[in-house]
Amino acid sequence: MSRASAPPDEDAFRAQVRGWLATNLAGEFAPLVGTGGPGREHEFVPERMAWERRLGDGGWIGLGWPESVGGRGLPWRHQQIFYEEYARAGAPGRVGHIGEHLLGPTLLMFGTAGQRARFLPGVLAGTQLWCQGYSEPGAGSDLAGLSTRARLDGAEWHIDGQKVWTSLAHVADWCFVLARTDPAAERHHGLSYLLVPMRQPGIEVRPIMQLTGTSEFNEVFFDDARAGAEDVVGAPGDGWRVAMGTLAVERGVSTFGQQLGYQREFEAMLATARATGAIDDPDLAARIVEAWIGLQVMRYTTLATLTPAGEPPAPTAPNVAKLIWGPWHQRLGELAVDVAGPAATVVGPGYQLDDAQRLFLFGRAETIYGGSSEIQRTVIAERGLGLPREPR
Ligand SMILES: Cc1cc2nc3c(=O)[nH]c(=O)nc-3n(C[C@H](O)[C@H](O)[C@H](O)COP(=O)(O)OP(=O)(O)OC[C@H]3O[C@@H](n4cnc5c(N)ncnc54)[C@H](O)[C@@H]3O)c2cc1C
Repeated sequence: MSRASAPPDEDAFRAQVRGWLATNLAGEFAPLVGTGGPGREHEFVPERMAWERRLGDGGWIGLGWPESVGGRGLPWRHQQIFYEEYARAGAPGRVGHIGEHLLGPTLLMFGTAGQRARFLPGVLAGTQLWCQGYSEPGAGSDLAGLSTRARLDGAEWHIDGQKVWTSLAHVADWCFVLARTDPAAERHHGLSYLLVPMRQPGIEVRPIMQLTGTSEFNEVFFDDARAGAEDVVGAPGDGWRVAMGTLAVERGVSTFGQQLGYQREFEAMLATARATGAIDDPDLAARIVEAWIGLQVMRYTTLATLTPAGEPPAPTAPNVAKLIWGPWHQRLGELAVDVAGPAATVVGPGYQLDDAQRLFLFGRAETIYGGSSEIQRTVIAERGLGLPREPR
């Protein structure tokens, strides 16, 4: 696909996305429809990696990135259209999303020309997968308390420590790791943002079994792991600023399609409620109505964040959105098992979950990852409303 300079007409672009998905999400990729979403990250991993490469070949990765680095320079509105159509087609959960949505924008903001030239082409082609090495056993919401250390010795950083909850570390080629490089500095000073190859002797990845019976995230141990001296984003010691830049873009435009998936899940829950008779229970009926209202709130909140000129929404819009969709989706999972009745308490052989059970169990994570609901409130209060900062 050619990389256009002038944004195409929105309707024509939508038709183009739809057509491409209809043609390509077929044949060998047809079984991927509806796979790989939350709680289903274990499904069809090699096939979804091949799908990443197909997306890359089609020019559908890095839609908003500048053309100078190989992106398509498309406006916000076109990216939104892409994600809507992607969800409408039931295209699979993205194994490449951390590279595209977190690492890429971070390198665009803080990386050197050399780092962009080295790393962005692999992300754009769908051939290089990334994971995010922030959280540690003693540092989650309070990320500045991290204790993984790195020291520069000649041409390499030597890294020791442990990360945890590292999504997709078991398939990633690279990890962006936040580590303390100045042992004398405290808290958010003296940290560096390192680009670390995952396949090396100093790194061990141990999967963590989740409530869903699958392992989407991992513990990652660094025992004298190495990174190139030049593979630090921003200046050494300036990692906090870079890491916060990554968090600011986390879960931005790519969440636009998720409401279509939510609508489908709501309809499945409603069909179950009709089939089991749960809809005649006044308490459950009230919760069904609340869930429907929540769907409308999400829809209109998204529409309200869009500016007429198609500019990016306010910086805290993703935090507001997460605070709405995280708890809402969690409650939908609770409702889905409640309307299913006692049958929902029995899992299939080999711990096989049905959709309602998976939704319920995975939903526990949704008010935690990407910043817990409490932390979202703090961000909105401090950065969005300018309220007094929480005592640190
Ligand atoms: C499915 C999933 C995937 C994840 N993937 C990744 C990943 O790829 N890479 C990565 O680095 N991390 C990842 N995480 C980790 C995630 O970022 C952390 O779990 C999250 O930041 C919370 O940190 P914590 O688990 O240490 O909990 P804690 O920070 O210990 O929080 C415990 C509780 O205290 C509350 N709390 C903490 N501080 C405050 C405060 N100041 N004010 C009010 N309440 C507070 C929290 O809201 C929470 O309810 C993932 C987590 C999940 C569940």
